[in-house]
Amino acid sequence: AAKRIGGSACVPYDAGMSDDGTEQVLMQQALRESLERGALTLFYQPKVDSVRGRIYGLEALLRWQHDRFGIVPPSVFIPLAERFGLIGAIGDWVLEEACAQLAAWHAQGLHTRIAINLSAHQLRQPDLVERMRAALRRHGLHPGRLTCEITESAMMENSAEERGTLDRIAALGVRLSIDDFGTGYSSLAQLRHIPARQLKIDRSFVVDLTVSAEARAVVEAIVQLAHALRLEVVAEGVESEEQLQVLRDLGCDVLQGFHVASPMPADEVPVWMSTRENARREGVDTSFDSL
Ligand code: C2E
Ligand code: MG
Ligand code: MG
Ligand code: MG
Repeated sequence: AAKRIGGSACVPYDAGMSDDGTEQVLMQQALRESLERGALTLFYQPKVDSVRGRIYGLEALLRWQHDRFGIVPPSVFIPLAERFGLIGAIGDWVLEEACAQLAAWHAQGLHTRIAINLSAHQLRQPDLVERMRAALRRHGLHPGRLTCEITESAMMENSAEERGTLDRIAALGVRLSIDDFGTGYSSLAQLRHIPARQLKIDRSFVVDLTVSAEARAVVEAIVQLAHALRLEVVAEGVESEEQLQVLRDLGCDVLQGFHVASPMPADEVPVWMSTRENARREGVDTSFDSL
């Protein structure tokens, strides 16, 4: 049943409840308790390179299931955590858990990369970079193994201090990725000065890719812009073979979405990886459908 919460068939939390202030207080209390008793989990969604289908890395996605509230999606509980001052503690847990997992996989001979998501609030934590450095050191990880995904709006609409944080993350050797690109409003001038290595095209563009010539043109333009700025391009939300083919034709470097794999619990990752890698070596990687 835990698997469900990673896939498209997730049971959404009834957003109607969130209008009620009391309900929000109860929910944040429950979230706090879940965090304290270690009841939050990370699921991992693979990313693959578009040309050879090789495993590029994994995105860590936070999951919360509660007896009373059920499966609450991050789109509901992350804003709640921000409002009630819990995001720092949750962010610390995510960083620690992702680093520990990466180190455990490395010890098993499974070498990969993990991307964690950071919200705008987290960028305002003065000791964020120090915590990152400490977590990486504690687990003996090369900083290049860690990526921070930050939405376009959080990356662009920030103060000089937060920009300094971005620079220090990059200087540490941790990669920055601009998440949900195309939904914010960054100027080209700003984009040029962001120390990011990667840009993720928002799912909304991918959805329309095969039905709208305009969506295709926009994606093509984003890929070209990103490459001109020497950014690697990831497409998120790839749900079909047709979308995958178009994205590959347009020169998108990395693909992520249900068509490649849904987010999965950590213990399923090694099997998924070896199955995929074996299939790829046997030469069936021309069609992602066969995997
Ligand atoms: P995101 O970083 O843009 O993550 C991608 C979201 O799209 C994830 O939703 C993922 O499960 C979903 N997804 C992946 N492939 C497909 C697909 O093919 N089709 C569709 N329809 N959806 C797909 P999720 O896990 O519900 O996370 C939502 C957002 O919550 C994330 O968006 C991210 O902004 C935030 N989030 C998740 N985990 C964390 C975390 O640990 N910390 C912070 N600060 N934010 C997080
Ligand atoms: Mg993300
Ligand atoms: Mg995204
Ligand atoms: Mg998104």
